[in-house]
Amino acid sequence: MNQISAFYQKIDEAIKPGKRPLVVESAQGAYLTIESKKKLNFCSNNYLGFASNPRLKKAATDAIKKYGVGPGAVRALSGTNTLHIALEENLAKFKKAEAALVVQGGYIANLAAIQTLLGKEDIVISDELNHASIIDAIRLAQIKNKYIYKHRDMGDLEKVLNEIKELRKTPKSDNELPIVLIVTDGVFSMDGDLAPLPEIVALAKKYDALTMVDDAHGEGVLGDHGRGIVDHFNLHGEVDIDVGTLSKAFGVMGGFISGKRELIEYYRQKARQFLFSTGLTVPDTAALIEAVKILEESDKLVKKLWNNANYLKRRFKALSFDTGESETPITPVMLGDENVAIEFSAKLLENGVFATPIKFPMVPKGKARIRVMPSASHSKKDLDFGISVFHKVAKQLKVL
Ligand SMILES: *Cc1c(COP(=O)(O)O)cnc(C)c1O
Repeated sequence: MNQISAFYQKIDEAIKPGKRPLVVESAQGAYLTIESKKKLNFCSNNYLGFASNPRLKKAATDAIKKYGVGPGAVRALSGTNTLHIALEENLAKFKKAEAALVVQGGYIANLAAIQTLLGKEDIVISDELNHASIIDAIRLAQIKNKYIYKHRDMGDLEKVLNEIKELRKTPKSDNELPIVLIVTDGVFSMDGDLAPLPEIVALAKKYDALTMVDDAHGEGVLGDHGRGIVDHFNLHGEVDIDVGTLSKAFGVMGGFISGKRELIEYYRQKARQFLFSTGLTVPDTAALIEAVKILEESDKLVKKLWNNANYLKRRFKALSFDTGESETPITPVMLGDENVAIEFSAKLLENGVFATPIKFPMVPKGKARIRVMPSASHSKKDLDFGISVFHKVAKQLKVL
């Protein structure tokens, strides 16, 4: 066998037969149609129901009529539409930040945020449970001086900051001193716990470091009107790099970085992800402008999301489910054993509830769970139905 045939054979052996995501045949909402059957949707990041909100749909349709669909070129050439600029200005206002830059996704925003500022000889300090896109961004920037601190452990973070005291005084090959960046997820998406951002900011000040937060699960969820984790902790202007996604609560797709005017301008001129890849489409951008507008106008949907989340957690606890330490609407139902979680999810689906199992390597071995994602689209009746199916399956599988 030649090398290429062997290569394809190896790949064929590595793929698991039948491992494909379920296919959704309806719009995103409280219910999804899967294999022609209606299932309660307990596993989307569409926190506020914006993915099929009539106002977003209308904004997208109207914009298509006026501007077409595609941006035609990278933003740095002729692909910056007036809608992109409006979205960036409105997002900056919404976040109470000086400026914002919109890119194609939260993942891309993290790559841009880190790669543009840091190189091989700079220093990054990262929470051990940070999202894959932060890990990939650090790899892409080829940062050699990478330090990991224990999850949310400020003692450990300070220990690292002391450890690097000598290193940071050693000039790089360009004679500049290395930059130190502390980076954390805002909301940790598997457990729903929050980064201790005020303490991180205080340590960054004490030790002269830059700070970055990835607020993917906090945008549209935390803070006044869903302005995110920086607003939640009242730290406006104190976190250098605030990365958000437009693909979760904002219901469309895209990502953005907000911060000081000169920093955002630097990204606009230097970020490879911005310079060498086309920006958001017309309907995406128009729908997102409307999403920001709805959030500015009213906190009704954010309040409803939290009411639903609190109700869900209370009811799960009353049935003696272990829902972990979440401080956000993310509601993990802890099951421990991976196979139990897989079987639990399959039985939920049979009974009309779609909620996916989360297992290794997304969470440590022995900490498998079903992650329940409530949204503002759910009614009390929807939640009650979901909870009753969880109860039924738990009794069947004897896990309570
Ligand atoms: C979902 C997520 C991302 C990626 O965002 P996309 O817009 O889907 O690319 C990045 N970071 C965190 C913490 C996330 O949860």
